[in-house]
Amino acid sequence: MIGVTENLSLLSDLLNKSAIDAGRDPGAVRLLAVSKKQPLTKIREAAAAGQRDFGENIVQEGVEKIRELADLGLTWHFIGHLQSNKTRAVAENFDWVHTIDKLKTARRLSDQRPAGLPPLNVCVQVNVDDEPSKSGVSPGEAVGLAGACAGLPNLTFRGLMCLPAIREGFEAQREPFARLRALAGDLRGHEIDTDTLSMGMTADYRAAIFEGATIVRIGTALFGERPG
Ligand SMILES: *Cc1c(COP(=O)(O)O)cnc(C)c1O
Repeated sequence: MIGVTENLSLLSDLLNKSAIDAGRDPGAVRLLAVSKKQPLTKIREAAAAGQRDFGENIVQEGVEKIRELADLGLTWHFIGHLQSNKTRAVAENFDWVHTIDKLKTARRLSDQRPAGLPPLNVCVQVNVDDEPSKSGVSPGEAVGLAGACAGLPNLTFRGLMCLPAIREGFEAQREPFARLRALAGDLRGHEIDTDTLSMGMTADYRAAIFEGATIVRIGTALFGERPG
């Protein structure tokens, strides 16, 4: 089996190539290594190979990993659905939250962010395909929630995130990402600063990069299939 170090190097080349093919600066696309369900040994291996950003989707699992790996000085992103009764552990331990879909959750994160830490970076999750099984606000609600997040003292509003339905084929995959990109334009039209589009995973990162992704969230292509 190919190791994490080799996968990271291959994946970095593929991300760079996608950016160049899209006419973009490869430095403008950040790899978020999705380490959910993966053991500490694999995270350490990726970190030793230079990877800095890691994503977790379960609060308890993420907090345990953050504590175990505190010596590495990594940047931790929460990418799962966040219930408002679990915000404190996230506010105290993570650097980013990609999945804001309620003002109540955002307010709690801001209130609970410890004074000694920099503001928590947040993205609003948009349910771009209007799927009942997925969280996220409707496209029409995104500007309002983003503006409210931007006004909270201990949060820094960064941008939009989506997790579209699975589509086959490059052009079909681009379509929901293009809509998220257009929504970012609407934010700017409302004078809301934004520098982040969190979109694209193992199966569709190239399409996301063509539509302006600044963070791609990739697990399987880096760490292999998730155990369990
Ligand atoms: C698991 C997960 C990913 C990574 O998925 P892969 O297909 O393994 O790359 C990305 N984003 C979110 C929100 C996830 O939950």
